[in-house]
Amino acid sequence: MSNTETSYDLMVIGAGMAGMAAALFASSRGLSVGLAGSVGGIDFSTGLIDLMAVHPLKDQRLWDDPWACIQALRGHSPQHPYALLEPESMSRAIDEFCSFLADMGMPMEGHTHKNTRILTAMGTAKHTFRAPRSMWAGAEALRSKAPCLLVDFHGLKGFSAAQIREVAGADWPGLRTKRIDFPGWKEELYPDHMATALHAPELRRILAEAVRPHLKGEQFVGFPALLGREQAEAVRADLEDLLGTRIFEIPTMPPSLAGSRLRAAFDRGLPPRGVRLYSQRMVLSQEALNDGGFRLRLGKERPETTIRAKAVILGTGRFFGKGLVAERGQIREPVFGLPVHQPVKREYWHSQDFYDPQGHELNQAGIETDSSLRPLDEHGKAAHPHLFATGSILAHQDWMRQKCGAGLAITTALKAVESAHDCLRTAPLSRDTTKETSSDMAELGKAVKA
Ligand SMILES: Cc1cc2nc3c(=O)[nH]c(=O)nc-3n(C[C@H](O)[C@H](O)[C@H](O)COP(=O)(O)OP(=O)(O)OC[C@H]3O[C@@H](n4cnc5c(N)ncnc54)[C@H](O)[C@@H]3O)c2cc1C
Repeated sequence: MSNTETSYDLMVIGAGMAGMAAALFASSRGLSVGLAGSVGGIDFSTGLIDLMAVHPLKDQRLWDDPWACIQALRGHSPQHPYALLEPESMSRAIDEFCSFLADMGMPMEGHTHKNTRILTAMGTAKHTFRAPRSMWAGAEALRSKAPCLLVDFHGLKGFSAAQIREVAGADWPGLRTKRIDFPGWKEELYPDHMATALHAPELRRILAEAVRPHLKGEQFVGFPALLGREQAEAVRADLEDLLGTRIFEIPTMPPSLAGSRLRAAFDRGLPPRGVRLYSQRMVLSQEALNDGGFRLRLGKERPETTIRAKAVILGTGRFFGKGLVAERGQIREPVFGLPVHQPVKREYWHSQDFYDPQGHELNQAGIETDSSLRPLDEHGKAAHPHLFATGSILAHQDWMRQKCGAGLAITTALKAVESAHDCLRTAPLSRDTTKETSSDMAELGKAVKA
């Protein structure tokens, strides 16, 4: 283990959508930032940014206007994290996030006050708020039901144009499909390899030549989302020129290339903005210091690096990200030992009906916070003045069923960063660190309340 400590204004724990967004927002506010975490849900996501689409869950009501949906939710579910956020700051968060993606060559499209319906690999339509430009023409094709050809490839598993047509084609008579060979490949296909291969202009020309004979006047052509890695938009635009039709991508099943494009954009874009990435490193232990900051030990299995941070944002996700751990009788938050809002008994974790549209009580488990997104201790007070939480670890939300995954991560990340920023300006750490001692969170929580 290294004896030296690296210091940051802010350490973000978690490299999912919430942690990445928090690191981005913090760096653009002039904070020095470190970010630790392993692969999160971001690599599995469709690349779409859902803000809010379903409320109330029991009625499965789908909303076209996400802001009206959030307004209704705030009235009915005042404990939902969205009830702690102002619409203006939520909108700013999404804009700032999308502007970063545009800078990284991944422009997003969407309406200001409206969700858009995007065609999925299941053939269903998904309500979302922002979609990569590479998927955008698909929304137009779906809305207008214009003649459209869906292309898939021999040897590519997990994506079937025919299956999409079976579901979506009932009220879309002009929807046709064609399975072709991917240029140069004879065996099993891997989306990663196909995407990288398509960076070569010659391969795109050959692909366009392979599709052209199957066109019967279609205005739109849809492909699985594998048209390039970091250059997806350029690949799509070039194919559009070559074929003379609108081209769009359809998000594939997880883990998806569209999700890993997002991760790659952050891996490329955060370091030049001053964020130090501790990739694949976990926070193994923490101490709350008497100067008001934290000491964190990072590593894979054993501590390798020691970090000092004036403030910490916890974006460790739920069970998938390992931000929450389900044990026999209880659910635990493993880094800080924070109290977790959870069903009172294990038998209430799940509903009898696995497909219950209301979800399971377990899906609303998580960390409760104050209005600045500071986690609460067992007495309902802020556990630490410089500790904040963001993303799916927050209690009283079911992002999967409410269709608010990335939106919740991004908007709470901005709120947590702005709270941390304000707090560091108005209540900086004590300067005398020579006499510092450390204490565990429970002790410090008592000090905060006192
Ligand atoms: C299959 C799938 C599909 C999705 N599709 C969509 C979609 O279509 N639209 C949409 O809006 N959203 C979608 N999402 C949701 C979205 O991608 C995010 O997963 C979600 O918003 C939660 O993000 P998060 O950052 O809070 O948590 P996670 O993504 O779970 O990330 C948690 C992070 O914390 C890290 N971590 C945990 N413990 C520690 C520790 N001790 N030290 C350091 N790091 C730690 C993990 O390694 C991980 O990096 C999808 C998610 C999944 C899984």
